Amino acid sequence: MNIIESGFNTKLIHAGEIEDQYGSATVPIYQTSTFSFENAENGAACFSGDSDGYIYTRIGNPTINALERQVAALENGYGAIAVSSGMAAATTIYLSLLSSGDHIVSTDAIYGPSRSIMEKQFIRFGFQSTYIKTTDPEAIKKAIRPITKVIYIETPANPTMDITDLEACAEIAHKNEILLVVDNTFCSPYLQNPLDLGADIVFHSMTKFINGHADVVAGIIVAKERALYTQLRNMMINMGCNMDPHQAYLVLRGIKTLSVRIERAQENAVKVAEFLEQHPKVAWIKYPGLQSHPQFQLAKKQMKGSGAMISFGLKGGFEGAKLLMNNLHLALLAVSLGGVETLIQHPASMTHSKVSTEDKLKAGISDDLIRLSIGIEDVNDIILDLKQGLEII
Ligand SMILES: *Cc1c(COP(=O)(O)O)cnc(C)c1O
Repeated sequence: MNIIESGFNTKLIHAGEIEDQYGSATVPIYQTSTFSFENAENGAACFSGDSDGYIYTRIGNPTINALERQVAALENGYGAIAVSSGMAAATTIYLSLLSSGDHIVSTDAIYGPSRSIMEKQFIRFGFQSTYIKTTDPEAIKKAIRPITKVIYIETPANPTMDITDLEACAEIAHKNEILLVVDNTFCSPYLQNPLDLGADIVFHSMTKFINGHADVVAGIIVAKERALYTQLRNMMINMGCNMDPHQAYLVLRGIKTLSVRIERAQENAVKVAEFLEQHPKVAWIKYPGLQSHPQFQLAKKQMKGSGAMISFGLKGGFEGAKLLMNNLHLALLAVSLGGVETLIQHPASMTHSKVSTEDKLKAGISDDLIRLSIGIEDVNDIILDLKQGLEII
């Protein structure tokens, strides 16, 4: 059977398999830094590329490659590059695609460090960036300059849940000979496949939904074409932000249940969102599965489901948010997302605290915004926990 042509759930279980002499049902952990060559000629052939034998784990390793083959299959890409974290994925992409004087156009409300590294660190290398509401394709067109090399999108955006039209972005990018990069962490390949909608590169913090068990930090990049794949892989190899074989094993274990975890978390999230929307102390809520989301139709068009992430604000503002966070017993007060446990956090003072107050306000990361990552517990317990917390305010 050709796994690449099989269904998504079959790929989750079988696309990462490797054949070994014992018929092992799971991928063994090749916890080795180096691989011995059969002879001098074979060693030289491995280095010249005439043989695809393994050399050294920073360059490639069977456990890590199994995960790369699997995620490439799930995202319908040419190849994947596993890295040590989601931020290692973002920085490998920036450093592979940009030279001094180049410019990117990006979503204003993206993962905090993805923006602050451009504005605070990479500015020293001459990388330029413009952050806008990419929800409006006209704003993207206006922000493009002759030096623009990359459009870098996160959709739904973190933490505003703003949704960007990926097909429209791909069209704008390619008309201007610009690459489209998408951070697909919030959706995972189960809910959204940016490469199918025209993106050139997609990446994930696998720390989140793909691994899903809050026990690994890891990232992965998937390229649609071979040339980009090679460029990215060479950068990763030389920067040394490779994944470790044991990390890869844990993600291979977590990814198998991606569909069932997201289905349950999403079912719970819909009910939690409906509860919050009706609650008198809630000022506003943004969840792609609610008709009240300004881009409800677009979400339906490009996502296969509404996901497990919810943002909302309280009439009691930041003080109310603090009271709620301090009085929950089930939801963990923690950053990160996409795990089996429900998490709550306050982006303005936590994940996005490094973004300037002015930029936060422009991006819609208001002081009253609370972000929930809904887990797979019994939904009644999640709602009861929120209900008693809200009563205290
Ligand atoms: C967490 C996250 C990252 C960074 O990933 P790490 O694994 O923590 O380095 C990037 N983008 C998004 C959307 C994230 O949620």
